[in-house]
Amino acid sequence: MADAASGPATAIPHDPDRPPLLRVEGLKKHFPIKGGFLQRTVGLVKAVDDVSFTVHDGEILSLVGESGCGKTTTARAILRAVEPTAGKVLFRLASGEVLDLAHLPERQVRPVWREMQMIFQDPFGSLNPRKNLLEIIGEPLYVQGETSRQKRMDRVAELLTLVGLRPEYMHRFPHAFSGGQRQRVVIARALALEPRLVVADEAVSALDVSVQAQILNLMLDLQRRLDLSYLFVAHDLSIVKHISHRVAVMYVGKIVELAPTEALFHRPKHPYTAALMKAVPVADPDLRAALKGLPGEVANPANPPSGCYFHPRCPYAVEACKRETPALRELQPGHFVACHLAEELDLAGIGEMDVARAADAPVPGSVGTGAVAP
Ligand code: SF4
Repeated sequence: MADAASGPATAIPHDPDRPPLLRVEGLKKHFPIKGGFLQRTVGLVKAVDDVSFTVHDGEILSLVGESGCGKTTTARAILRAVEPTAGKVLFRLASGEVLDLAHLPERQVRPVWREMQMIFQDPFGSLNPRKNLLEIIGEPLYVQGETSRQKRMDRVAELLTLVGLRPEYMHRFPHAFSGGQRQRVVIARALALEPRLVVADEAVSALDVSVQAQILNLMLDLQRRLDLSYLFVAHDLSIVKHISHRVAVMYVGKIVELAPTEALFHRPKHPYTAALMKAVPVADPDLRAALKGLPGEVANPANPPSGCYFHPRCPYAVEACKRETPALRELQPGHFVACHLAEELDLAGIGEMDVARAADAPVPGSVGTGAVAP
């Protein structure tokens, strides 16, 4: 197991030839805006708008972006915690069968959750304070038909050991544990049914930085030992850098860049990605506050700007950016970017991405003069 006292460990390289476990194609989740006396639909919040990506066996893919960019809604739509509006969520079962979860009747989705589990952000809110750890971790086992209390106890003891807690803790209640220990309990419960994909939604955001490193190391250790795949939803780029094999950056419901971690951090191609990297101090947990260096606010998904949604905040915007929505295209093998100027901009070396210059860029609601920034 990685040294819990040190900083976050790094994911071992992923074999790109391993088969897809999850394939998300054109996923959309639009929420209606009701208005007027009759509460008719007067608009749509396009929280997730045509999102596609793949998670392979043994891979850690991170979805990253500011609060409200649609990353959590994407994760919830994959698990059918919210109903997708359109698109496919193709998941390969252990049996080899591939199911489209987006179109499966709900009663047929539930058995799939055995192979696909979610870890939530808040280890305090996600554990029932009136149940002990045996009940909490043993519950999914019971729901899936394990009626023998002794067998549940044996499995819970095994799971507690796996996440670095003592088996005898199973008789204690959540209030007896620290935030980091509770998140270990949450992870133990998620692993109870031996899932193949774990969707971790801001799994360490609520924890102190030192505890974050411990939990990340634990998650990486478990990923290696159990050959798990993770879809890791986060706003903190410093975490994403260490844990991911690939990273997808989201902005206003769309993926604007998707690349192997090394390429994304050393050779970003989208101005938003570059600005995120430059703007976020390593230990700053509040991305929104950190993004004060960027001009303007995140676009409203109910009324996004024309063309490229990022153009009111982009220091490189040209007239075409205001008119035409850039498609996500493969610039280099495995490196996808949605930017008209991706070939021309040199964003390598994030240190050179001058957020102060961004602050001098066109004010929100306008675009640049047509010149490409040097
Ligand atoms: Fe969008 Fe244009 Fe900026 Fe590229 S250069 S991110 S297309 S506004």
